[in-house]
Amino acid sequence: MDVKKIAVIGAGVMGRGIAQTAALTGFEVIMNDIEEEALIHAYSNIEKDLKNSVEKGLLTQFDMKQALSNIKLMNRIDEAGHSVDLAIEAAVEIMEVKQDIFKQLDEFCPSHAILATNTSTMSPTEIGAVTKRASQTIAMHFFNPVPKMKLCEIIRGIETSDSTVSIAVEVANRMGKETVQVNEFPGFVPSRINALVGNEALNMLMEGVASAGDIDKAIKLGLNYPMGPLELMDVVGLDTRLRNLEYLHKYLGEKYRPCPLLYKFVAAGRLGKKVGRGIFEYG
Ligand code: NAD
Repeated sequence: MDVKKIAVIGAGVMGRGIAQTAALTGFEVIMNDIEEEALIHAYSNIEKDLKNSVEKGLLTQFDMKQALSNIKLMNRIDEAGHSVDLAIEAAVEIMEVKQDIFKQLDEFCPSHAILATNTSTMSPTEIGAVTKRASQTIAMHFFNPVPKMKLCEIIRGIETSDSTVSIAVEVANRMGKETVQVNEFPGFVPSRINALVGNEALNMLMEGVASAGDIDKAIKLGLNYPMGPLELMDVVGLDTRLRNLEYLHKYLGEKYRPCPLLYKFVAAGRLGKKVGRGIFEYG
């Protein structure tokens, strides 16, 4: 199957990055979200990011216009799924929400379409099981920020067919991504490590071992990380990271118990860069 048209369901941090990257690499993209405001915010963020690239000489004006014209916004999922070859779900990390979206996509997408989830940790088998096309379901796990990060982790569920895997790999490659193929297990590969590192950095902050700035500086300069684990948590979103940890705690045990400080930050609405404040403040 030659994938031409992709629906991206959920236009938050990840959905907008996936939509931008797909549009830039020549796919027709339908962006969908239950919140009208999220769709508008996502589109203006994409526009801003592409304009930045033009100003830096990384992209031509023509390519920017072409990419923007490849993106359509639709807030009804029946219309969004109507004529696509692939749908990528990037909504909140809650199993029931993902299953509900997959049920609707199964109903509204053409029978040949593949349904992918961008979950960071959850079982693609469990998400795909609510559809009548489990063999055409898969996880395509992109990384944040999607336009810059080179990896797309491909996770097959128990029922996923070889041809679904091949198509997902081909689409990821056309989007300029390297892939790794992973057998389903909670957290897959990078998220499983990353959740642990970030949680431990928060535990150190709670214990008063060092300031947030110095913990990040120590890890960056001492371990050669490109970004400190606390700043990275702000980039990911503290609410998203808390859900990741809760899921991993449930399936992989005590070492993933979320740091109590993480609950406090989320309760305070300090969700990270997307709201201007998280562990750090952003102007
Ligand atoms: P986010 O909170 O920024 O965005 C989620 C979006 O989904 C919101 O705009 C929300 O309105 C929308 N949404 C919720 N329910 C919906 C529904 N029923 N239909 C359509 N849209 C709906 O979250 P995010 O950080 O973009 O994460 C999305 C997914 O990607 C999660 O599964 C997350 O684990 C995964 N992920 C996140 C990162 C990261 O760094 N943030 C990295 C890789 C994967």
